Amino acid sequence: MELSALTGNERLKEQLSQRESGRGLSHAYIISGPAGSGRHTLARLLAAGMLCTSRGERPCGKCGPCIKVSRGLHPDLSVITGPGEGKPIAVDQVRALRSDAYVRPNEGERKIYLLEEADQMNPSAQNAMLKLLEEGPPYAAFLLMARNAGGLLQTVRSRCEELTLTPAGQPEEAASDRERQAVVEKLASALERAGELELFEAVMSLEGKRAELSVLLDALESELGARAARGGDRRRLLRATELVNRLREAARLNVSAGQLAGWLCAGMFEPLELAIV
Ligand SMILES: [Zn+2]
Repeated sequence: MELSALTGNERLKEQLSQRESGRGLSHAYIISGPAGSGRHTLARLLAAGMLCTSRGERPCGKCGPCIKVSRGLHPDLSVITGPGEGKPIAVDQVRALRSDAYVRPNEGERKIYLLEEADQMNPSAQNAMLKLLEEGPPYAAFLLMARNAGGLLQTVRSRCEELTLTPAGQPEEAASDRERQAVVEKLASALERAGELELFEAVMSLEGKRAELSVLLDALESELGARAARGGDRRRLLRATELVNRLREAARLNVSAGQLAGWLCAGMFEPLELAIV
């Protein structure tokens, strides 16, 4: 399984690759770890891995389904959040999800449900979820996101494979200059050379770094300029610089890493004449 977009967590990557080459990916995962540890990166890689149509290593990051997952547009990947700010997913939502799961996939062979903050669900919602895990259709897959897997009922946990992420290095807020430079270089390389999914994952690694976003963007702009001066891919670098400049405005607003990622991918990969307005 192609998991290089996820930083650190080598043991977990090995666990997944072994499973995939053995009896295949599981139909239910609990993805746990603190904010900024890469839970959403991993969830998207898993979803893309399940929907990817490449014959080689998955997710390939290039096929139609991979691109749709990276843009959050795949009709067979649903993200379920609570009914309002800070509210956990409710039992009614799980019941609705259950009826939806019995409708066959739209495009792919799987139907994937990503449940945000699943560990915050109350016991009746979790029990409804348990039924679905036990009796759901074979093509359905569930990604239960959790800060702490201990918040889930033991019966639910026993039906899932647990993937526990550990944050790479220092906490994001205390990132040293060297770590920041590594992030900037990764982003600049992705903007200059990478495919869409890889760029998306690189931007998603900014999750939890909102506080230092403007510093990062400044450093990113100088890095892009330096690359252009060294004779890099000028067309992409110029477009990236222009996008980063516009992003400075957006960064002052309350935008998530996911929104930034979708916006940057659209800016970099839509036809030239559309993007530069
Ligand atoms: Zn693919």
